Amino acid sequence: MKCFGFKNSNIYVFGKGIEKTSLCIENGKIKKIGNNIKDNAFIELDEKYIVLPGFVDKHTHGANSADFMNPSKEKIKLILSAISKEGTTSCLATTMTQSIDNINLSLQTIASYIEEKPLGVEILGVHLEGPFISPKHAGAQPIKYIIPCDIKTFEELNKEARNHIKQVTLAVEEDGLELVKYLKAKGIVVSLGHTDCTYEEAIEAVNEGATSISHMFNAMRGLHHRNAGTVGAGLLSDELKCELICDLIHVSKPVVQLLYENKGKDGICLITDAMEAKWMPDGDYQLGGQKVIVKNGVARLEDGTLAGSTLKMNEAIHNFMQATGVSLLDAVDLATINPARCLHIEDKKGSIEVGKDADFVIVDKDLNVYMTICRGEIVYSKL
Ligand code: FE
Repeated sequence: MKCFGFKNSNIYVFGKGIEKTSLCIENGKIKKIGNNIKDNAFIELDEKYIVLPGFVDKHTHGANSADFMNPSKEKIKLILSAISKEGTTSCLATTMTQSIDNINLSLQTIASYIEEKPLGVEILGVHLEGPFISPKHAGAQPIKYIIPCDIKTFEELNKEARNHIKQVTLAVEEDGLELVKYLKAKGIVVSLGHTDCTYEEAIEAVNEGATSISHMFNAMRGLHHRNAGTVGAGLLSDELKCELICDLIHVSKPVVQLLYENKGKDGICLITDAMEAKWMPDGDYQLGGQKVIVKNGVARLEDGTLAGSTLKMNEAIHNFMQATGVSLLDAVDLATINPARCLHIEDKKGSIEVGKDADFVIVDKDLNVYMTICRGEIVYSKL
């Protein structure tokens, strides 16, 4: 159903904070923000609700029993309809380390879905997580399919994806520097992750164009007092924006605080890294063809390795506020404008400003989600 706009409602207007105002939507975009809109077709919200920009999750593998690695159009719809309930309005479909043939199948299906331009949660592109990673920090990525970085292989993958790959997680120490330069030249985000790179190697990658770190602290060389490691580079380099899985399981509360104190509000992107068990009960699932057991919402391989999360985006923001004491709006920026800037799409996503896409989530002060609107269409509502 179409949403024409809001009137006399609490709206987080970018750069101004929460204002009691009105907003008009036309052709899926924000046409006007101001007080003098009286149209009866517009939604007037109760005092307890706040209109926020829709959340942008640039690292998600699946939800609702479906995985982007085993996709069909129906499976993709299952994922997107589930994540709309947590306020996500756009995402990067994230692949796993698998055989090149299997990754290609996933890329083809995701590309076809994107090109049909369906309504609903928007897939902004693909986040290619693996196969160019380190076997030393595989996490839940199957080691047998890991390969060194290689431009030619990447070109073949991106051809199957019809140029929809927008971010690549890679281990730069695995012959990766040339690939970093190549991706930078193509405008594709280079994210250091599943990597054993030293501080020096990470900074070299930054100098060649790396701008992101995938799930900071998880699956990377940690900080040692004589070797600052990937983590040290992530903490110190302003160029590197750090993805964070803020479920308080992958990273503990004091470490979330440590990250915030180092990176500030502009240096962190909240992600879910969620797998197919999100929005599903505990039980047996899979990730990258490996068995995953989900107990109390925590997903692990049989050997105990964390295997993605069941984190919802609204919970991630709430957890971040609890851990750091930052305000609601500052925490929301970490899930909206920061990922939009990281992906170079801040001209259309990430905040409520005239001219941007009409992507909204309506929440209360505790981040419970009541309605989600993607490009002017109501895709979820319990109001
Ligand atoms: Fe990962």
